[in-house]
Amino acid sequence: METGGNSLTAGPEGRKRVVSYFYDPEVGNYYYGQGHPMKPHRIRMAHSLIVHYGLHYKMDMFRPYPAQDNDLCRFHADDYISFLKSVCPETQHEQLRVLKRFNVGEDCPVFSGLYQFCQSYAGGSIGGAVKLNHGHSDIAINWSGGLHHAKKCEASGFCYVNDIVLAILELLKYHERVLYVDIDIHHGDGVEEAFYTTDRVMTVSFHKFGDYFPGTGDVRDLGYGKGKYYSLNVPLNDGIDDDSYLSLFKPIISKVMEVYQPGAVVLQCGADSLSGDRLGCFNLSVKGHAECVRYMRTFNVPLLLLGGGGYTIRNVARCWCYETGVAVGVEVEDKMPYNEYFEYFGPDYHLHVAPMSMENQNHRTYLDSIRERLLENLSKLQHVPSVQFQERPPDTELLEEVEEGYDSRPKARLWDGEYSDSETDEMEPKARNHDVDIADASPPSKRHVNLLTEQISKKIKQEVPSEATPVYLQINESTVKSGCQSESRDQVFG
Ligand SMILES: [Zn+2]
Repeated sequence: METGGNSLTAGPEGRKRVVSYFYDPEVGNYYYGQGHPMKPHRIRMAHSLIVHYGLHYKMDMFRPYPAQDNDLCRFHADDYISFLKSVCPETQHEQLRVLKRFNVGEDCPVFSGLYQFCQSYAGGSIGGAVKLNHGHSDIAINWSGGLHHAKKCEASGFCYVNDIVLAILELLKYHERVLYVDIDIHHGDGVEEAFYTTDRVMTVSFHKFGDYFPGTGDVRDLGYGKGKYYSLNVPLNDGIDDDSYLSLFKPIISKVMEVYQPGAVVLQCGADSLSGDRLGCFNLSVKGHAECVRYMRTFNVPLLLLGGGGYTIRNVARCWCYETGVAVGVEVEDKMPYNEYFEYFGPDYHLHVAPMSMENQNHRTYLDSIRERLLENLSKLQHVPSVQFQERPPDTELLEEVEEGYDSRPKARLWDGEYSDSETDEMEPKARNHDVDIADASPPSKRHVNLLTEQISKKIKQEVPSEATPVYLQINESTVKSGCQSESRDQVFG
């Protein structure tokens, strides 16, 4: 595999980065329900590997301060957050209409501790953004974050609150432009939608497209109004391998960095794009996936690394552990150290797994044409757009102004959240206003909404790993440093 000479030890990339790592020891205890593919336990497995590889010695570790209602309401609707706060498994049947309205039930079930889970993963991402804003770290990591499908007033695709949007809003207090890059196999629809009409955030999503959740992310969707050309979509087919993926990722990201010059970058590292994922259909190795992190790191721009999807949990843990190594500048050994979850990683007990032999349905001509098209779109992008500094209000007002912008974005962009028949696989959502408004856009692509969980039944069932009984990891409080003392939003532990 071509790794592009981004060695961790040579050249400017070899410089040590200060890395802040956010981890909540409770996260592995949240449980979406029997058979549900989203397992927060994978975060605990990744953390265990990280600790047993000794990577925690090379970074500052923080337990996230739980995001509060007002933090979450910077993006989300008040009534949606109130609902998440009050709903519980025992009484949910009393409010079926509300559940349906907020798209909570199937993909996004009500489970015990749901709101605390949201507070925790959002708190980690916002806390990471604060660390970067204050120059306390070069890279911040929150593997429990990256829940990119959540909408302003709607849960979607296993995501309830959109920690990414919240973290980007935090970064916008200090940075004129923020770049969002998404390597989850699913389109980063919630983040794209939130920033579709602004040039202050550029979103770039690499994803499987065509009869696949969430149905958005057509190459023709570019952004709207002031945000035109500031949304970039890279639609891909089944079986993409490392070389093909990086042959798009590197030139596109290189061009984006050149023309957009962001002050901070958020990289969503969804691991369902790995080979052998329970819901995915790509063929990336851990090294290929991590090469995106390594490449992003070479630009020396404050970097927030977030998790996301990932449903073959042993591989998710492998991937995020290895990528933590990339962040701190350590090439971790393939042979795994003994850890609490060792039995998951048999029979080889290695960090890296070989890609599968499957057809790569992304042929050279397709890759070339999509690259050419996207680079052409990027050439239309105004070099380094900037907000007028003299007009820039203080932090809090800036935030309100940004939020106001979202409220006035075309309302029909949001799915109406009501599935006419929850048993149907797919249905056509309403067209979005701007699809019609963009004068030179091609006709709106055919969109499908389907439930992420329903894709499990379409996938080979082989993939259900035999999971060990969850073990409650004993976190030594001294390893989770008290931190962020100087910052208003972080709580001191220990
Ligand atoms: Zn995904």
